[in-house]
Amino acid sequence: MIDKGRFFVPGPTEVRPEVLDALRRPMIFHRHKEMEELMRRVTARLGAVFGTRRPVHVLTGSGTSAMELAIRNGTKRRVLAVIHGDFGERFARMAEACGREVVRLTAEPGGVVPLEQVRQALVRGGFDAVTATHSETATGVLGDIKVIGEMVRELGGDDVLLLVDAVSAAGATPIDADAWELDAVVSASQKALALPPGLAFAAVSERFVARARTLRDRGVYLDVLRYEEFAGKFQSPTTPAVSLLFALDKQLADIEQETLAARFARHLAMTAVCTAFVSRAEAAGLGVSLLAGPGRYSPSVTCIRSDRSGEILKGMREQGYELGGGQPPLAKTTFRIGHMGDHTVTGVEAMLGVLDRVLRNL
Ligand code: PMP
Repeated sequence: MIDKGRFFVPGPTEVRPEVLDALRRPMIFHRHKEMEELMRRVTARLGAVFGTRRPVHVLTGSGTSAMELAIRNGTKRRVLAVIHGDFGERFARMAEACGREVVRLTAEPGGVVPLEQVRQALVRGGFDAVTATHSETATGVLGDIKVIGEMVRELGGDDVLLLVDAVSAAGATPIDADAWELDAVVSASQKALALPPGLAFAAVSERFVARARTLRDRGVYLDVLRYEEFAGKFQSPTTPAVSLLFALDKQLADIEQETLAARFARHLAMTAVCTAFVSRAEAAGLGVSLLAGPGRYSPSVTCIRSDRSGEILKGMREQGYELGGGQPPLAKTTFRIGHMGDHTVTGVEAMLGVLDRVLRNL
């Protein structure tokens, strides 16, 4: 078991004992008033996290389930996929698996797709949706979702929907779904919201719901129209993960106390500490470097290049710290620090002190 404050995997992230305690509450019936009151509180607070006045749907499932909801209800025939790493590629493959044709714009590892390329693709047209990743957990890169949103609206009008994977972004960095006119913003509980895995979130626009009404292959479990219908009564279509909702209720109240602004600032500070450390370590000849380009850093995960990633992870484990391995195709050449959720700058600094020793003793 890893001690408190030492679990730096980029999801699931560490969950505070107070939040874990909420999981122990006795069951309530999900069609009773008590659950409706809980869902009313949760919906309002999730709205602030996703920047929407519309309900944020809560699914029992991992982040992938909400991504699939976005694809199945928000795409028709041809999708433009903006890919900054393995998770962007998964979104593209998922659209293909759902029978859509996909055109990929794929960035170099650690880079982003130039916005001009996105513009040109949209000008050529023929797409009914665009997929993009806000914080690409595989590479530690933050995409420019707001600008992509503006482009999609400018060039696609109401006919092209923008579907955003915010799995490692929600709760770590501002998202303004309504103002940026994003059509689906999906996330999961185990990342910057610092809950156990098992819940997924989907904030969808009215345009998205209108699109869903025209599609026949929405399925049942991920049919957004069912979520819309039940959201009106602050209920979920199927039995929700009641215990996880208790934890969500507690955690969102605590996040409100901290304030989102302070939470975002804390995430930026954790990123700054990590990236500065890696730059110093690189200059000192310790064989590490940042994968993401300057100014592109994710607020929740730092991806570090090293030929000795396996040894570094092992060395950290021996010191009682768990970091994350690399994602394909960078599995052997990178490792990742997840600094999200309720981690602190002090905790990150302590971890980096240990990482420094591990690197020097390789
Ligand atoms: N997208 C991103 C950006 C992620 O970080 C993850 C999880 N690492 C996923 C999608 C998939 O989420 P899940 O494992 O919860 O299905």
